[in-house]
Amino acid sequence: MRECGECTLCCTLLEVPVLEKASGEACAHCHPGGCSIYYGRPGQCHWDCLWLAEPSLPDELRPDIHGVLFEPFWDARVVVAMAEPGAVWKKGPPANLIHTMLADGYVVWVMQEKDRHVILPEGVTQEEAEERAKRAWRGKWQARAIPQT
Ligand code: SF4
Ligand code: SF4
Repeated sequence: MRECGECTLCCTLLEVPVLEKASGEACAHCHPGGCSIYYGRPGQCHWDCLWLAEPSLPDELRPDIHGVLFEPFWDARVVVAMAEPGAVWKKGPPANLIHTMLADGYVVWVMQEKDRHVILPEGVTQEEAEERAKRAWRGKWQARAIPQT
């Protein structure tokens, strides 16, 4: 299993209720070398980061490198890509990963600041994508970042 190392992208982008940290605000435990309490971080910091979970993904997709992090919802066949302000997700490694997920039939939601994009794999309608989205985030504490459908 990978470790985050110097990456702290989710530590700014995501809300962490137990730390009373809002999305978009850097966590007080973020340091240049990574999380200063990494091995004792709260459970809510152990979210489903695709790069951490999938060693087959290249190192260059570490979320802080391109400013894009991916969260998979395997059962609902949805992947959420969250991009920090100014991050480029339409080309390069993040775009390649999006294309791979689409080819495998996953709906990809991309969120960047107030923008929400849904990218449909072949054969999937907008209606089905929204149904999948609702299934994906039902009951998740991460409702923080979820596209409103
Ligand atoms: S985005 Fe992923 S790799 Fe980066 S700090 Fe968060 S969990 Fe770790
Ligand atoms: S405690 Fe560590 S892992 Fe959790 S948000 Fe803060 S810096 Fe990130």
